[in-house]
Amino acid sequence: MQRLFILGAGASKAGGIPALKELSGYIAEKPGVARFMRELFAVNSQLAHGAFLPRLDDIYSVVDYALFQDHRLGSFTQEDLRTLRRELNLSICRLFAKDTAKADYAGSVDIYRRFARELNMGQDAVLTLNWDTALDYVLECEKGWALNYGFTGTIQHGFPLVKLHGSVNWAWCEACTQLNVTGYDFKDWEKMNCQTCGETKLSPLLVGPTVLPRHKDTPLENCWLAAIKLIIQAERLYFIGLSLDAIDLGVFEMIKRGLLLNKKKPELFVLGHGFQATPKRKELLANGTVKRYIQLFGVDIGFYMQGFQGTIPGDVEFTRLRS
Ligand SMILES: [Zn+2]
Repeated sequence: MQRLFILGAGASKAGGIPALKELSGYIAEKPGVARFMRELFAVNSQLAHGAFLPRLDDIYSVVDYALFQDHRLGSFTQEDLRTLRRELNLSICRLFAKDTAKADYAGSVDIYRRFARELNMGQDAVLTLNWDTALDYVLECEKGWALNYGFTGTIQHGFPLVKLHGSVNWAWCEACTQLNVTGYDFKDWEKMNCQTCGETKLSPLLVGPTVLPRHKDTPLENCWLAAIKLIIQAERLYFIGLSLDAIDLGVFEMIKRGLLLNKKKPELFVLGHGFQATPKRKELLANGTVKRYIQLFGVDIGFYMQGFQGTIPGDVEFTRLRS
């Protein structure tokens, strides 16, 4: 494997899939979630939109923390909190599905169609933190590639598309602990029963933005095993639209762990946004994302900060700051 592409929210956002900070407004439409926001965050009707809503990571984090500590939050019992988290996840599945009315799925497909042209079976692999399925759809339905999500912890065939935070088309059966992959529409989700045991109530396998992410003892654990193997084997690593916020600590730690074990010492490239034309060295150094990557990985990185529209620039188009 030569190139590993690690995609963050900025990669899908480029195609119109909403970013995290825009999501609270959508999910507030569910009655259970709305009640939670009123009770926990004092969300009132006048300012119940946009910047005044609690952030999705605050909501997930407080729910997960209370569950972890066996707490009750006001009128929300442990069972209510588990139901609420399933409801949050299901609304994300609905919002990001191909038949969504609210997100620009087609716009995202356009960008990933260009990206898919860059990819080579047997040479490249993708790790993503995104839940959406626009890239899956292009690779599977348009390119005709078999996808390998890494559910067995290792990847021997198919195209490696490892989704560290789960996917809106993954339905987990808590009864027999099998993972079912649904179609790309939300209506596929709604009629999905477990293919192993027939259970009708399946749960989305999503890791919300939370300070207490849980991969252990879920089918995602194997995806993380597959992911670190990809990092250990990579010769070139491309970070695309990945901000590496503190909440992604687990991802950062895994990337570091993999890089420390990678004997090929892969070249690092960052694709981000912030500039229309090639920035000067001084301008690049003032960019928040550039600073963050230098803080975490040192200066030996190629930067392309003119936005991601699906294509991967050639090596000469990346700016290197090492002098
Ligand atoms: Zn089952």
